[in-house]
Amino acid sequence: MQFPLTEEHRLIQETARNFADNEIAPVADRHNREGSFPLELVKRLGELGFMGMLVPEQYGGTGLGNLPLVVALEEVNRVDASTGVTMSVQNSLVCAPIVHFANETLKQKYLPKLASGAFLGAYALSEPGSGSDAAGLVSSAVKDGDSYVLNGTKNFITTGAEADIVVAMVRTDPNHKTRGITAFILEKGWKGFSVGKKEEKLGLRSSSTVQLVFEDLRVPAANIVGELGLGFKIAMHTLDGGRIGIAAQAVGIAQACLDASVKYAEEREAFNQPIGRFQAVQFKLANMATKLEAARLLVYNAARLKDEGQPHGKEAAMAKLFASEMSNEAAREAVQIHGGAGYLEDFPVERYFRDARITEIYEGTSEIQRIVIARHLLKGLR
Ligand SMILES: Cc1cc2nc3c(=O)[nH]c(=O)nc-3n(C[C@H](O)[C@H](O)[C@H](O)COP(=O)(O)OP(=O)(O)OC[C@H]3O[C@@H](n4cnc5c(N)ncnc54)[C@H](O)[C@@H]3O)c2cc1C
Repeated sequence: MQFPLTEEHRLIQETARNFADNEIAPVADRHNREGSFPLELVKRLGELGFMGMLVPEQYGGTGLGNLPLVVALEEVNRVDASTGVTMSVQNSLVCAPIVHFANETLKQKYLPKLASGAFLGAYALSEPGSGSDAAGLVSSAVKDGDSYVLNGTKNFITTGAEADIVVAMVRTDPNHKTRGITAFILEKGWKGFSVGKKEEKLGLRSSSTVQLVFEDLRVPAANIVGELGLGFKIAMHTLDGGRIGIAAQAVGIAQACLDASVKYAEEREAFNQPIGRFQAVQFKLANMATKLEAARLLVYNAARLKDEGQPHGKEAAMAKLFASEMSNEAAREAVQIHGGAGYLEDFPVERYFRDARITEIYEGTSEIQRIVIARHLLKGLR
């Protein structure tokens, strides 16, 4: 595809592809079966510069931007969506809000470590009682001198068990729904911070998803990201970017489904011929390839708009909505093309099928993406 990839983008793509094929792919199945976090791979991603792609060079990142990030994310997710989500969260949900909203002191303190992969980060918005309705969160922060005392539980936090720091949205004012939320950077060693229940999941089995529990957790006021009460705005701005990363994840999974299906269609014989000679199978492959290409263009376009500083909220939601639904369709068809073999752990499409499912749910469900898109369309009704 020629659209807008430069020589530099192709070099990044090739580096990510080689790392994915040579280092992630050989161990991905084992990590997913064992449910073990691939720490060594994640550290290597940091060494290669893939954890700080949105972090300016002055803070130790590569500062390459969103388009190179999605190109690299697609390659990593093509072989392992668990490693892919760890990379996406670090870049888009942890580094990005610090780059955009934190003061100079916090940037210098945390960004170099995050960009190098020395520190892992998590983003904590969801709670047991609030997911789609993010502004309904109830975890609280009460001012006490130069610090805030935090209490509450965060739910479903990706990389929460391994994270050295967490960007957490907490309620500082119970009287204002959205303007009563503040973003804090929390460090894992602090008293009152603990990792709670580890979730057992359908897919993404080598990415950790945990509860985080705050019990009289004292956080310096200096660790507020942006300003008091700006947390909801930061959270939404951050998700506009994060959604492009999840859309890239969906594209990567779908590409893996297509690659595996083409290979199987050429090898597997039925009625004395390769199943790829049956038009029913050919049409599935043609549909998968066409929709995959359309999704990739939506993802690239949303990333390009973000890099150019143009409005991209609608385009990010469209990319996430279309790519995630496309990815699930591709995974379903890939299993079908594999027949009974597709249902077995012995073939990779079984994992792709399970991993694709989450892309329609996290960082805003498909229903929420449709709401976001419709709000952009129906401006006259606001
Ligand atoms: C593996 C995994 C990793 C995650 N990682 C993180 C993370 O790192 N950080 C984090 O903060 N969160 C994370 N999440 C949480 C995730 O973002 C939420 O699960 C998601 O936003 C949906 O929220 P919910 O689960 O509370 O569903 P609910 O909000 O309860 O929604 C349930 C259903 O109702 C629908 N619905 C809700 N409101 C509306 C509406 N207004 N109109 C139409 N339909 C509606 C939803 O679309 C959905 O189908 C993760 C979740 C999972 C499963």
